[in-house]
Amino acid sequence: MIGALTWKLRRAYARLPIGAACRCCLCGARVRRFLPYRGGWRAAPAAMRALRVIGSDLDHFACPRCGCHDRERHLWLYMNKYGLLERMRGAVLLHFAPELALTTVLAHAGLSRHVMADLYPSRPEIVQMDMLSTGLANSSFDFVMANHVMEHVDDDMTALRELRRVLKPGGLAILQTPYSDVLERTFADPGIRTPEQRLELYGQEDHVRLYGRDIFDRFASAGFASRAARHADALPDVEAPKFGVNPSEPFFLFEAIENRSFK
Ligand SMILES: [Zn+2]
Repeated sequence: MIGALTWKLRRAYARLPIGAACRCCLCGARVRRFLPYRGGWRAAPAAMRALRVIGSDLDHFACPRCGCHDRERHLWLYMNKYGLLERMRGAVLLHFAPELALTTVLAHAGLSRHVMADLYPSRPEIVQMDMLSTGLANSSFDFVMANHVMEHVDDDMTALRELRRVLKPGGLAILQTPYSDVLERTFADPGIRTPEQRLELYGQEDHVRLYGRDIFDRFASAGFASRAARHADALPDVEAPKFGVNPSEPFFLFEAIENRSFK
């Protein structure tokens, strides 16, 4: 009860327009600050801090006005920077775990089809779909988006090959995921099963791995060429705290390379 009241007060304060220096790029609101995730970075599990895991901006996480998360805002800024919204006009998008705020703005992108999919759909417009076996036709999509999804998927290599299969050659996959630049190799162990273990070692109760620096090789082996970019190169003028985004989070953009086996 006290926790809920504190949260409401913090949100009300954060929404005050007086002295609001931050701006949500998705709802356009000027806010005093973005709200932290749980206790922020200081409260993150020790292993996550030791491995300097790059993922959500835990200190500037939720917009107090529309509720969108930093990872949605960052993606929107990256997509605008690289002209992906123009490229989406008339295109077909397969969007896993579609975020509400991002979906709302994408409704104006002029997509010819926006297929929203989730293993456990939470809204009526989302179809039930397993990323490991989508049942979709070969080379039928121009874009795939899975924003902070791959770290939840048990068999990510099968999922990546499936995403590559449904993408047209030259199609683009946006695959944001937490990772550690400290880890040489992606870490996953079948013995780590409980929510407590997963929280401590992967960073969240329902994550099943922590990607390391080999993430690009893993994705490449499924037929994706990296088109990734760093915030400092792509968005040098975007002050991260003001827009509530993590400046360490790269844009994980991948291009489906030609594969003769499923034309
Ligand atoms: Zn907002």
